[in-house]
Amino acid sequence: MSGIRFQRKAVSVLEAQQAVLGRVRHQEIEEVPLTESFGRRLAAAVSADQPMPHFRRSGVDGYAICASDSEPASPESSVTLEVVEHIYGGDVPQRSIQSGQASRIMTGAVVPDGADAVIMLEMTETRERHVYIRKRMAVGDNITPIGQEVAAGEMLLQEGQTIGAGETAILAAFGYSSVPVYRKPRVAIISTGSELLDVGKSLEPGKIRNSNSYMLACQVREAGGEAIIMPKVPDDPAKLEEELLNVMKEADLVLTTGGVSVGDKDVLVDVFERWEGELLFNKVAMRPGSPTSVGVWKDKLLFALSGNPGACFVGFELFVRPYLCGLMGCSARMHKEVEARLLTDYSKGSAYPRYVRGTLVMEHGMLGAKPAGMDKSSIMVSIKDADCLIHIPAGGRGASAGEMVKVLLLNH
Ligand code: AMP
Ligand code: MG
Repeated sequence: MSGIRFQRKAVSVLEAQQAVLGRVRHQEIEEVPLTESFGRRLAAAVSADQPMPHFRRSGVDGYAICASDSEPASPESSVTLEVVEHIYGGDVPQRSIQSGQASRIMTGAVVPDGADAVIMLEMTETRERHVYIRKRMAVGDNITPIGQEVAAGEMLLQEGQTIGAGETAILAAFGYSSVPVYRKPRVAIISTGSELLDVGKSLEPGKIRNSNSYMLACQVREAGGEAIIMPKVPDDPAKLEEELLNVMKEADLVLTTGGVSVGDKDVLVDVFERWEGELLFNKVAMRPGSPTSVGVWKDKLLFALSGNPGACFVGFELFVRPYLCGLMGCSARMHKEVEARLLTDYSKGSAYPRYVRGTLVMEHGMLGAKPAGMDKSSIMVSIKDADCLIHIPAGGRGASAGEMVKVLLLNH
């Protein structure tokens, strides 16, 4: 009987995560056009080379004036000012404002020197070259000062940040027509199991279609990686080894599913027994997915995830996603963690902490969490309903409805 099948030392989830993150090395950097940068991770921090706005900007359509001129103005008595210029968006004012003068100005245009307030058009009357105002304005009214939004030198985006709409707007405003990002990690995905059929095949007795490869590919993409779905491999250690060695040359990391437990046909266990690289761990104190194993071969990681779809999904979230984030420079690698009230009893005790696929709901203004459908590691159809992983501490009694539990948010 083989040694490592039964003699496995469980490490905690945190230890396993630290072991994996200890192997993080940044991907190379590439420049992509701004329009192609959506969803990528920034390879450099971005700070402001200019204040924003970089000129005193009018917040309204109206007249730029000296606020002190408006002191006597009231609804009953107007002040008359001479209009010296019309300033449109993009114009540079040619005239500075003296007492008794005003310039017609549009929203977003440059406030002329000398003016220290802009009065809204609606509060004025214009007659030929004069404007009548009936409202007292204070210094600074309707003028956005230089640097109000962003001071020069201010840090705007962190390295490793994912580029979305808000980030793109900043990059565009600060002149990044191309953006330095980390090259997407190439992640090869190999499902193992002689029971597996390709998706296009009709069901046969005893066989099931491979769904893990496609699920993992989505998780990889969502985490910013490039998923490469490899052909499935039967329960044949020699075939698997050959395929692994092949694929490890091309990919930045490899995910396998299935074949990690103690069954006779658990091919990954055989592979790890002959493994020439390191084995970071081959058992994690958690449910589901305790046989999850990670090996290193020439600086590349092999994540051997459980075959059970639920366990496979959770294993990716706990170990692969943080690693991928790390490769792309992200410092906040773990899922956001919140507290929520458990909404139903979870009475399945376990020697290991559980990560239950869960659904979050707001109840009476409080965050509540409940298991997403049936919670067995073999159950696949409820994965789509999971927006969190509910942490049930180890122990004989599970957790009861009403208890506060730790919840890891997915997709954040
Ligand atoms: P294993 O860890 O290989 O014993 O697989 C555990 C369970 O997960 C078995 O019921 C498998 O049929 C199932 N399974 C393994 N790989 C896949 C896959 N790629 N897609 C869907 N189910 C799978
Ligand atoms: Mg199998």
